[in-house]
Amino acid sequence: MTVDLFDSPTVISLKVRLDRPVDRERPCCRNICIIAAGKGPHAGELHCADCGQHRGWLSKPTAHWIEHIATRFGAPSTPIVVRKSHTYEEEAPSAET
Ligand SMILES: [Zn+2]
Repeated sequence: MTVDLFDSPTVISLKVRLDRPVDRERPCCRNICIIAAGKGPHAGELHCADCGQHRGWLSKPTAHWIEHIATRFGAPSTPIVVRKSHTYEEEAPSAET
């Protein structure tokens, strides 16, 4: 696995499972996503692992959180679950349910 270390690339190509409210309302396949390289302020982009559909963006704090989990526990055998509080606490603090 070759990665550059100057942004948040250690999370690139990791699989995560989305469990945000929107993913329960409108799931895509199994809600498993693969993290791709992000653009601009985004640390990563989430693509459905099954059909490739764009599923959202990964903020830098979330990427760091995932990186921390992956580093601490090693390459996870099951995808890390990303919930709303992880994904959107920076972007939409007032949208708490
Ligand atoms: Zn899908």
